[in-house]
Amino acid sequence: MRLVRVDELEVEKVELKDLLDTLEQILRQGCVSPIIADQDFRKIKKGEKTVAALKILGVKYVPASTYEEKRMVRLEDLGFYDEVSGNPLKVYEDMVELLVRNWPTPLVKSKFLSTSDKSAWVKLEAFNPFSNSIKDRVGWYMVKEAGHELLRLGKMYEATSTNTGIALASMAAIMGLKARLYVPQSIQRVTDIYLKVLGAEVHRVPTSLTVEAISKVEQEAVRDGAVHLNQFENDANFKVHLRYTAKELDLQLKHKKIRPKAIIAGMGTSGHLSAIAFYFKNRYPETEIIAVQPAPDNIIPGIRRIETGMKWIHWIKYDKTVDVTRDEAIKCAVDFARNEGILIGLSSGAVIAAYLKEAKNPGNYVLIFPDSGYKYFEQFSEYLNKQQSLH
Ligand code: PLP
Repeated sequence: MRLVRVDELEVEKVELKDLLDTLEQILRQGCVSPIIADQDFRKIKKGEKTVAALKILGVKYVPASTYEEKRMVRLEDLGFYDEVSGNPLKVYEDMVELLVRNWPTPLVKSKFLSTSDKSAWVKLEAFNPFSNSIKDRVGWYMVKEAGHELLRLGKMYEATSTNTGIALASMAAIMGLKARLYVPQSIQRVTDIYLKVLGAEVHRVPTSLTVEAISKVEQEAVRDGAVHLNQFENDANFKVHLRYTAKELDLQLKHKKIRPKAIIAGMGTSGHLSAIAFYFKNRYPETEIIAVQPAPDNIIPGIRRIETGMKWIHWIKYDKTVDVTRDEAIKCAVDFARNEGILIGLSSGAVIAAYLKEAKNPGNYVLIFPDSGYKYFEQFSEYLNKQQSLH
């Protein structure tokens, strides 16, 4: 048996959906048996799907043999965790490396949310450099996977509630491309300014990001010869969280010798919650996954109700959905700021509200905080004004 670099093996493109079983099996077992290759270890004779799945998971090496071998090789020994192990001195060659090699984002124990028998670990996605949100990961990976097509056409169109838009505007600026973002009317005004400062074009749309609104963006992209990256359908969204967000969280928890009782996260496209659930439910089935959505008729920027239509949430297992009101989300974000000194966004506030409702048993809980509070000036002022008028 030999370890072959994964990028030296040619594999045909397989749809993510067709690889789910293989991915599940690899994650569940935590190891793989050697694939069968030809004499010079370039062509795969048996094990195409294993190699495609290992590529998605971001290993460095694939175990290969010229004959059937029964032994199993652990993911750790294939460089599975190498790319999320961080760069301690934080010196980078360019801005994309700043994004990718700066991971993992911090995982911090919140004293405010922990009690004598419960520890709350918050993952601060605001430590991503472009949109200061979890969406930098998605923006980067969608652009990376769009590759030559995007460079050839030179422009990208996307519907966004802010963070993906900023992440894409940053990627477009770095790569000398054009970005046009379609933003719903209901979103805070500061979004337009940030996007324009980054050199992007902004179109306000009258509706929320419905299926119809997104298909209109698709039509306009086709008409204008632009790439519609489409975070709602593009599997790069799920894949980037599986390969990086979930894996680095796993490594961070391993480092602290923690098995989480539950992981709590919000749903917009459902990208990060679904990938984290897929990863943890296969590797550590006892971990509960709690999905957070706005209560009916409540608007919480970044998250939506499951029935508004999401792709990956239907591929995975999770334990429950919790409804949170807008007022609860804002209040939890403000309380967190006043006790931990960190301004977090409203969807992070919603995750705290769900934790307070659901975390009844002792143990370790992980809360995914998608962004910081700086974009929500309007919502925070509305909250403060309301508080003032009550006193
Ligand atoms: N919270 C914020 C602030 C967001 O911007 C988003 C997505 O745009 C989410 C939560 C939801 O993340 P996902 O799209 O991975 O479900």
